Amino acid sequence: MSKHEFDFIVLGGGSGGIATARRAAKHGARVALIEAGRLGGTCVNVGCVPKKVMWHAADLAHKFADAPGYGFESSSPTLNWNRLVVHREDYIRRLNGIYGRNLDKDGVTVFRGRGRFVDTHTLEVDGERLSAPHILIATGGFPTWPEITGASLGTDSDGFFALDARPERVAVVGSGYIAVELAGVLQALGAQTTLLLRKDHVLKYFDAMLGETLIGHMRDAGIEVVMETPVAELSEDGAGVRVHYATDRAPETFDTLIWAIGRTPNTHGIGLDRVGVEPDAGGYVPVDDYQNTSVEGVYAVGDVTGRAELTPVAIAAGRRLADRLFGGQADRHLDYANIPTVVFSHPPIGSVGLSEAEARERFGDGAVTVYETRFNSLYYGVLEHKVASRMKLVCTGDEERIVGAHVIGDGADEMLQGFAVAVRMGATKRDFDDTVAIHPTSAEEFVTMT
Ligand SMILES: Cc1cc2nc3c(=O)[nH]c(=O)nc-3n(C[C@H](O)[C@H](O)[C@H](O)COP(=O)(O)OP(=O)(O)OC[C@H]3O[C@@H](n4cnc5c(N)ncnc54)[C@H](O)[C@@H]3O)c2cc1C
Repeated sequence: MSKHEFDFIVLGGGSGGIATARRAAKHGARVALIEAGRLGGTCVNVGCVPKKVMWHAADLAHKFADAPGYGFESSSPTLNWNRLVVHREDYIRRLNGIYGRNLDKDGVTVFRGRGRFVDTHTLEVDGERLSAPHILIATGGFPTWPEITGASLGTDSDGFFALDARPERVAVVGSGYIAVELAGVLQALGAQTTLLLRKDHVLKYFDAMLGETLIGHMRDAGIEVVMETPVAELSEDGAGVRVHYATDRAPETFDTLIWAIGRTPNTHGIGLDRVGVEPDAGGYVPVDDYQNTSVEGVYAVGDVTGRAELTPVAIAAGRRLADRLFGGQADRHLDYANIPTVVFSHPPIGSVGLSEAEARERFGDGAVTVYETRFNSLYYGVLEHKVASRMKLVCTGDEERIVGAHVIGDGADEMLQGFAVAVRMGATKRDFDDTVAIHPTSAEEFVTMT
């Protein structure tokens, strides 16, 4: 077995691992990165990137449906699902190549295979032993499956991206952002879509206004949203997957059922027991504010830590860790407050900071002021159907510092980034009021609320 010495070993070549490895190498460290699958991890291969391509396709489908209102006389092109998938996967392969070349350019040595700790400073991969004083766990996660009879007759978000044809009738199970995004795409692209919820809401970690509004829009668009109906069992049916419920709802058959009920951290089988890193009850690797695990020289970033499971968070935490370990920036670490996020639903959602409920709990009812608006954007002026936008600003104190900004509506996805800067800088409602509006846009409503 050959042995290699490095300054830093990164286990996992996804968003967090690649960003950390490259930053460490730029600081002059000798870096190894171990990846078992395709470079880029979840985001590039079975997450953000293919999801956004599908979202754009769905968005086009909505636009085609609206086109007659804008005077277009023929606007019903048919979707060739397979061609869409081929184009999407070609793009992803190009990204895989770019990731590989960038690692190469920065001098990171890539080892292919499944890595596993041997001891605190040593990892084993495909018959090679690598050692370093600093090791990063960036192994991400995978879709969670329920433990019910017949669960394997369904598929998951990875399976969604592997579909080579559009299902005619599909059930998506789950209430988080991945569930609502997949349901929105499938419906827009012509599948008869049912969203199955265990409880009576979606997007529980967001301001309640967003989920409530989205459910209304999903129903208006033709998605059947079924609440308080846990799935009890799946069985085989000549025509597809038969779904049996834990309520008195009659069983139904779908071509495809997609589990989107959460993600499980990739900590099993990587030898954490050999280093003494104890995963928490959810299987996540606990870290402090500096991404340190309980064992000196072993760090973790990204989804495997269970904190704000988003690509830019994994990247930001990893780069700051590399700056701290190899760039002489002793206090560099990520501030996890005010992380903006977008849900690529139809219409999309943007959110930063505290929900109204969180603000009331943290500051007390008396200290919280809320501004809300609901409007139809100009786009719908010439259309018969309308998809209303809603916005909310959550403010605290006499100076009305904005601690939360939430929006659902067309353009929300591209609107929020700039407002997130303002919220992070401590903007007040007065600052928003004093900012001249950009007209005619939906974003201007954020600075004209009374
Ligand atoms: C459907 C979907 C849509 C998403 N959409 C968005 C979005 O729009 N915006 C956003 O910000 N985030 C989105 N995410 C989340 C985002 O993909 C993750 O937050 C991000 O990929 C986390 O990066 P990571 O580096 O922690 O893990 P990952 O990207 O999962 O990378 C981990 C890597 O480690 C490798 N690995 C694991 N174990 C081993 C081992 N033992 N040896 C070697 N390699 C190993 C895996 O193969 C993988 O490549 C989405 C996720 C999904 C599933």
